[in-house]
Amino acid sequence: MRRGTTPDSRAARCRYAGAFLLAGTIFAIDTFTTLGSAVAVLYVLVLIIVGEGGSRRAILTSAALCAILTLSSFAFMHGLHGHLDASLRLLISLAALIATSFLMLSRHADQRALEGQAELLDVTHDAICLSDAAGRVIYWNRGAERLYGWSFDEVHGRDAHELLATRFPQPREEIEASLALTGAWEGEITQTTREGREVRALSRWLRRADIGRRGGRTLESNTDITTRTTAEEALRRSERRYRTIFENLAVAIWEHDLRPMKAELEALRANGVDDLPAYLADNPDFVRRMRNSVRIIDVNTTALRMMGVGSKEEFFTSLHEFLEDDVARFAGFLIALDANVPTWEAEATLRTRAGDLLRVIVAFNFPPDGALDCVQASVLNITERVRVQETLQRTRDQLDHTRRAATIGEVSASIAHEINQPLAAITLHADAASRWMDRNPPDLDEVRASIREAAIAARRASEVVRRVRSFMSKVEPDRVPLDLDPLIEEAIHLVQPELAAHAVTLQPTLAAPGTLVRGDRILLQQVLINLMVNAAQAMAGSGSAERQIRLTTSRTARGIAIEVSDTGPGFTSEAAAKAFEPFFTTKANGMGLGLAMCRTIIGAHDGEIVIIPADETDGGGRVAIRLPALVAGLAE
Ligand code: ADP
Repeated sequence: MRRGTTPDSRAARCRYAGAFLLAGTIFAIDTFTTLGSAVAVLYVLVLIIVGEGGSRRAILTSAALCAILTLSSFAFMHGLHGHLDASLRLLISLAALIATSFLMLSRHADQRALEGQAELLDVTHDAICLSDAAGRVIYWNRGAERLYGWSFDEVHGRDAHELLATRFPQPREEIEASLALTGAWEGEITQTTREGREVRALSRWLRRADIGRRGGRTLESNTDITTRTTAEEALRRSERRYRTIFENLAVAIWEHDLRPMKAELEALRANGVDDLPAYLADNPDFVRRMRNSVRIIDVNTTALRMMGVGSKEEFFTSLHEFLEDDVARFAGFLIALDANVPTWEAEATLRTRAGDLLRVIVAFNFPPDGALDCVQASVLNITERVRVQETLQRTRDQLDHTRRAATIGEVSASIAHEINQPLAAITLHADAASRWMDRNPPDLDEVRASIREAAIAARRASEVVRRVRSFMSKVEPDRVPLDLDPLIEEAIHLVQPELAAHAVTLQPTLAAPGTLVRGDRILLQQVLINLMVNAAQAMAGSGSAERQIRLTTSRTARGIAIEVSDTGPGFTSEAAAKAFEPFFTTKANGMGLGLAMCRTIIGAHDGEIVIIPADETDGGGRVAIRLPALVAGLAE
């Protein structure tokens, strides 16, 4: 079968020349011989030659020419009035010419139609192949050339399926059987192109047993679906991936059909409801009905686990079976849906199949295209988190309570600690007074002196209570200019009885007379008393034979330095590290508050207090204080 549509112009020229020659020969015989038979009938041969592949114009022109030649011969031979039999031959010849022209024109029209159809086959992207009963290619369109890479000339007469190494989805015999039975077959085949590329094609076959010789012909149309198949496979893979993510997410996902609900809301609007929140508040039954109309259409396995439901089918009920919240909360969702918001999030309470209550966060994602047939909601179980938060809050409340109780305890403990020393002094003076009274005669002057000292100690105790209480309750201490050396002398005087009780001697070296500091006299004295009592207790506790306290003051570049050292065992490394921490004590009945208070008080005076490391001392305890000085004369 010829696939081209343009006749070869050289062949056409030859044909026309042959026809011309034949016409000349017939004319010569008809005109110049006396054969007397209907030689002019042979002009039909000229028409047949021209008509075979010639154009419509060529057929018409050659028909006219042949008629003119016939008439010319007749005129030449018989003049204008020939014999009857000659005239009859003329008429028969002309009739034969007309009939042949008609046939040629009609054949030409058919030919054009066929060529048009063949062009159409070439225009199509599908590969079209026509093969004979033996499977040999007799037609192969341009689509086939493009797809497989072989030209028609290369495949003509060959078995296309052998050439393309076609793999069929079923045995060839079954395909043949189907062709024999129905005349058609369709299936997906895989073929290999000239470059070795694999092509997946949807193949449609048509068997026409009545066309052609010996067993008919098969028309095959192959549509390349390689890319479609790849895209479909990619889509399938992506769907599988999405499914896996969907099913195994830690978050439960519910899909809902919200169309009925949206339709009802739109109907409300159409009926003139402008203020939806107000309408919903007035019509709780409507909200309840809406809530009952939400259908769950899909859930992931996390959702099944979360709700304790065995299968998806069991889940595909209405939302209200799980929703525990009151209608007011659901109204919020209706308002969001009505407002066409892109997302909506809220906390909700769900009831599982087993009846347990779950606190969840529900987040709706409304599709941007407004399709509400499959709206996804992520449901995050926060029950545990809420429980932890509530426990935390409870613990925090308890802690606050404990802290308040501890502060009260701390204040009372501090007061108890600080008044221990004046109380001890009162006891000592009272004992002394009674001993002077027991003398014979009683030494009333000494009694009076002892009672005076006891009274001073008692006043100090009440002053200490007041100061410590105000200090612990964060009331600012006094900030008055103080001359430190006399202040220290007073403190030494106050602690003297206790030192004497522990057989401790004290050597003060006060070398900063006139140096003023700004501060609270009672609190600063309390610091020094604490340090001296600690030193005395350390020496007594360790049974030191030599019990001496050295107290020195000296001026420094920026203020005043005070040092209290003793001849006791010194701070242990643990005590040196922790002594300033509240409640650290190594004493059986100690409270561990003295040094903590000292640091707080010195800190409140912008100074610092440190324990001198053991290797810098002669073995005893040594504590150093630095306080900033107030320039003399600037006292307020
Ligand atoms: P408390 O006297 O109630 O124990 P402190 O805060 O005053 O509380 O002292 C804390 C600890 O520091 C004491 O228990 C003791 O171990 C140690 N410490 C204090 N002063 C001295 C010192 N001069 N020598 C040795 N250790 C001391």
